[in-house]
Amino acid sequence: MKEGLLLKDWHIDKVSEAYLRLLKIDALLYSRKTDYQMVKIFKNETLGKVLVIDDDIQLVEMDEWVYHEALVHPALFTHPKPSRIAIIGGGDGGALREALKHPCVKEVFLVDIDREVVEACRRLLPEVHGGSFDDPRVKFLHLDGRLFLEDPPRKFHGILIDLTEPTRGPSKELYSKPFYELAKRSLTDDGVISLQAGSAMFHWKEGPSPILCYSILTSLFPIVRPYLVGIPSFGSLWCFLMASKRLDPLKVSRRALVKRMMERGIKTRYYTPELHRALFTLPRFFLEGFEIAKKNS
Ligand code: SAM
Repeated sequence: MKEGLLLKDWHIDKVSEAYLRLLKIDALLYSRKTDYQMVKIFKNETLGKVLVIDDDIQLVEMDEWVYHEALVHPALFTHPKPSRIAIIGGGDGGALREALKHPCVKEVFLVDIDREVVEACRRLLPEVHGGSFDDPRVKFLHLDGRLFLEDPPRKFHGILIDLTEPTRGPSKELYSKPFYELAKRSLTDDGVISLQAGSAMFHWKEGPSPILCYSILTSLFPIVRPYLVGIPSFGSLWCFLMASKRLDPLKVSRRALVKRMMERGIKTRYYTPELHRALFTLPRFFLEGFEIAKKNS
C-alpha cells in the first residue's frame, strides 16, 4: 500500500526486464488513451517535459535535441540538395524542426498515424516543435506510414523514420522488410533513409533490434551505415541506421560538410561536420555483431 502510494507520482521506465528507472511526475500535463496508444506528457524537475507513449519514453526536453539532430542531419548533410522529405512518425515535431532548418528543403510530409499525438505535442511541447508545425512547407497526413509509402505522392530525397519502439503499438509492422522495400521504392536514386533502430546495449540482438534492421537493410541497399549516439534519457547507447542506393555518408568530405553547413546557415547543438564522421566509428562489440548479421543475411 505504502509502496503503491509512493509510486503513484512516478513514471516507471522499463529499460529491460530487470532494469527499471523512476522519473518523478512533478506535473501531469496530458494523459489519454488514443485510438492507437496511451500517451502521457509530464514535467520532471530534472529532465523538463517528458513524452511517454505506451510506457516508453519518446523524448525528454533535456536531451531531445541530441536524438533529433542525430536522426536528421547526418542524412540531410550527406545529400547535396535535399528538397523533398518524408518523416514517418515524428508526431512530436522535433525531427521536423531539424529538417526544416535546411533551406533547400521545400516540402516535408509528416506522416504520423495518431492525430492526437500531433495535436497534444503542438499544444504542450512548443519547446520541441519550435513552431515547425506552422511552417508552410509541411503537409500533415494522419495515416499508417506503410499505406503512405505504398502510394507516395512523389519520390523523396530523404525519408526519416521516427517511430515508437516496435514492442507494441502501431509501429510493429514498420520494422520489416516489406516496409523498407516500400521506403526504397519511394526514394530518389540519390535519396537517403535514416531511422532509429533501438538500444545498442539491451536486446540489441533479439527481436526488432539494430541487428535485425541492419540485416534487412543490407539485403536491400548497397550502402548501410550504422551509428551510435548516447542518449541519457533512453538509458542506453542508441543505434541509428542510414541507408542509400548511391550516397555514402562516409564519402562526403569534411570540407564539403563544412561548406554545406555554412551555405545552409544551420545552427546546431549536437551535430558538427567532425562529429558526422566520428559517429560512424563503431566499438568492437558492435562491429562484430553487424559482421555476424551480414554473414547470416
Ligand atoms: N523519438 C521517438 C522514440 O523514442 O521512439 C519516436 C517519437 S515519435 C512521437 C513516434 C511516433 O510514431 C508517434 O507519434 C506514433 O504515433 C507514430 N507511429 C507509430 N506507428 C506508426 C505508423 N504505423 N505510421 C505512422 N506513424 C506511426
